Amino acid sequence: MTTRILVIEDNPANMELMTYLLNAYGYSLLTATDGESGLAVAAREQPDLIICDVHLPQLDGYGVIRVLRRTEALRGIPAIAVTALAMVGDREKLIDAGFDGYISKPIEPETFVAEINRFLPAKKEAVADAPPAALLVICDNVAHRALLASRLARWKTVWAASLEEAIGLAHSHALDLALVDLDMPMDECSRGIAQARADRTFASLPLIIFGPLPTTMEHSGIARFLQRTVEPDVLADEIETCLHQNKRRQDGDHIDR
Ligand code: MN
Repeated sequence: MTTRILVIEDNPANMELMTYLLNAYGYSLLTATDGESGLAVAAREQPDLIICDVHLPQLDGYGVIRVLRRTEALRGIPAIAVTALAMVGDREKLIDAGFDGYISKPIEPETFVAEINRFLPAKKEAVADAPPAALLVICDNVAHRALLASRLARWKTVWAASLEEAIGLAHSHALDLALVDLDMPMDECSRGIAQARADRTFASLPLIIFGPLPTTMEHSGIARFLQRTVEPDVLADEIETCLHQNKRRQDGDHIDR
């Protein structure tokens, strides 16, 4: 969702410049030309940020911030004062009153948006809100399990000790990827995986397999093969790449339908 900024400003030239700059950077704008109507817009629209002139008709910037900070539903919205006041101590007065920051007039087009960005909550980044991916880890060795657990801490993990168990878990859990680390000869392991992939739910998961590349799966395109001793960063990169590719594939599926 687009970040919404409310600008409360009675000077038409300043209003025009600020709205022009913010629009140019892709923000969605709400405007008001006096304190009272600014508060009404804030209450109705719940903007992500408020930019407020200090000298305003009806209710000035100090009056606006007093109401904002006293009102439960509006208290959390960051607010920045815009003012030509340049006297020593004014900045402190504005911050004491409840403003999160201060921008002085005249507005500098080169720095204005960058200054505004500092006050926007980072939560708007969709990435930060996305839940961690769920990995199915198929591992039959206690020591390897402990090592993998420490390396996979940033993701949600579901553990299986065998491929049979993994198939069951693939049906009962929402999963994004499977990692296979089985202590068995590679040809036996690859036969097992080929059998497991007869199950469509299991087969829909991208695979990362620890071990040398077995000739039987060389060009299958179904999996990535990593050495067990791979660096944690490399492992993390491989996982993220697999997840990303799979997501793109799924999004593509949706478009095709
Ligand atoms: Mn003014």
